[in-house]
Amino acid sequence: MNNKESNIEKTKVMVIGAGVAGSSIAGELSRLGYEVHLYDKNKGPAQETSSHETALAHPHVGKKKSKLQRFTQLANRLANQKWSEAQLDHQAFEPLRELSLSKCRDLSDLFDEMGLQNDVQILTKEDAYFRTNIQATGLWYPTAAVYSLPMICEKEISSIDKSCIYWNCQILKIQKEKDVWQVFNHAGELIGSAPILILASGIEVQNLLKTIDIDLAIRPVRGQLSTFHIKKESLLVPHLPKKVIRGDGYCLPAKLLETQDWHWEVGSSYDEDHSDILPWDKSDQENAIKGLNLIGCDHSHLKDMLVINTFVGIRSASKDRLPLLGPIPNQPGLLVACAYGSRGVLWSALGAPVITAYVEAFFAGADRLRAGFLTGASAPLFAEVVSAVNPGRFLRGVLATRTSNSKPIFPVS
Ligand SMILES: Cc1cc2nc3c(=O)[nH]c(=O)nc-3n(C[C@H](O)[C@H](O)[C@H](O)COP(=O)(O)OP(=O)(O)OC[C@H]3O[C@@H](n4cnc5c(N)ncnc54)[C@H](O)[C@@H]3O)c2cc1C
Repeated sequence: MNNKESNIEKTKVMVIGAGVAGSSIAGELSRLGYEVHLYDKNKGPAQETSSHETALAHPHVGKKKSKLQRFTQLANRLANQKWSEAQLDHQAFEPLRELSLSKCRDLSDLFDEMGLQNDVQILTKEDAYFRTNIQATGLWYPTAAVYSLPMICEKEISSIDKSCIYWNCQILKIQKEKDVWQVFNHAGELIGSAPILILASGIEVQNLLKTIDIDLAIRPVRGQLSTFHIKKESLLVPHLPKKVIRGDGYCLPAKLLETQDWHWEVGSSYDEDHSDILPWDKSDQENAIKGLNLIGCDHSHLKDMLVINTFVGIRSASKDRLPLLGPIPNQPGLLVACAYGSRGVLWSALGAPVITAYVEAFFAGADRLRAGFLTGASAPLFAEVVSAVNPGRFLRGVLATRTSNSKPIFPVS
């Protein structure tokens, strides 16, 4: 092999899965100059869970600065910076019906003290009614947005060389041969090899790891969103929201049709250990109730909500609700990006730079990750993200007990 060839081989990376997780990683690596080979079993990007057109992202806030809270605030900033053109709606409101005016002031002061003034504000009942059509005090998220996951995927993969994208290409087996990872199709044919292999195929990551006898504890969680048709004469119409409302689930602003009737999208159901992609009536009913609760209406309006469309997807999820991002212990060059749960936008925004940092460290021969690669992230925050999302925490059996967190990777400051 001459120098040029060996250099090319050194910077080649394979990514399995062109949902929002895989596309965002593949896009980021490609923009950095890596030769990215992207494989997906479907005919194009975002055909499975990431076919979701209305994914809400917002920073999580609360009285305590929890890990989840700090990571989502960072991820939300990254998503806003990267994917503003895939945002279909902005801001969101969370009604907190029991909140008194004095508690509002306390909370508002607290958010200011915590430096959250850009992420969350308190709305009085009157303000909320004016902005959202919901009569309740609550939290206003100025930086929340609704994203089209297919638009994010299209944008991300546009930077990859088209001849290195393989559609209708299901990977059924992976294996390591000398220092190179190999991927095989349904016919058992070797169809690609590279020093780095990134598995971003949603719940399917589990099956691919099983082909090398690794058992990763992630589970499928079925979700359904429902769009309801509401006739113009319904008593529900004056209460329909003008903005995204979140709480137990979320709903989009209702859309006025030419007929003066309305369409209103509400979600999502959350059924652990189910993978059925057919629509369920039960989930539509749950969503209808969720929607009425979100806007503070009683259930007598259920009869006015006619289901006209559903979206069903299978999330992959971990026990601690954080994603799995990083290397599989004792398998150099093998990385995973999955378990994004209900936070596909946020964890994709964070996942791409985390995985990229590992890839850079791998090719540089470094055993430590570069700090500060996340815009606006301090070195301690970066260290916390990296160790909290390490897949080693969920590996079952010998691999986990031998290596789990025994050799954590910390950034250089
Ligand atoms: C009802 C519902 C509502 C949701 N709401 C929100 C929300 O409001 N906000 C938010 O941020 N997120 C939301 N999510 C979550 C979000 O949709 C997911 O986290 C995200 O789409 C997961 O992306 P992914 O790339 O990991 O998986 P996927 O989109 O499933 O991508 C995996 C890809 O891998 C490919 N693949 C699988 N196996 C193989 C193989 N063996 N070989 C080759 N290719 C393979 C598939 O074809 C697919 O393209 C919601 C999910 C659901 C179901």
